Amino acid sequence: MCRQPDPLLDAGLIASTPWRPDLHLHTTASDGLLSPREVVLRARAQGVNLMAVTDHDTLHGLEEAALTAREAGISFIPGIEISTQGEEEIHLLGYFVKRGNPGLDALLELRGRLGLNRPDFRSVLQARMEHDEQEVLAGDA
Ligand SMILES: [Zn+2]
Repeated sequence: MCRQPDPLLDAGLIASTPWRPDLHLHTTASDGLLSPREVVLRARAQGVNLMAVTDHDTLHGLEEAALTAREAGISFIPGIEISTQGEEEIHLLGYFVKRGNPGLDALLELRGRLGLNRPDFRSVLQARMEHDEQEVLAGDA
């Protein structure tokens, strides 16, 4: 049987590139624990050579991550993770996103106006820790 020509395979791009991808990373722009720069540097240290930052419902961390990735020699894909509302909350990953896309900008603006963007992760964590602390204190009484 004859194989169909494949431009990527025939050019050696697939077989010769030992990709070590991570295509679903969050930063402090949404609910991650590391800044965009720190995420890129951590990924690099782990041997990742192809990465996408996909923060929840925001493009805010992408520029810093892209600049750091270029500096670090990592292939970078700008991404996003969009939350849906309905009976079930579903998260959709999007890749190769950019500011200035009218549909995406309108969606993010609308989500912000409706108060649907995720709360700040640190303030949620802080509130949870304070709640737990109060429960512990109350439980000992
Ligand atoms: Zn995610």
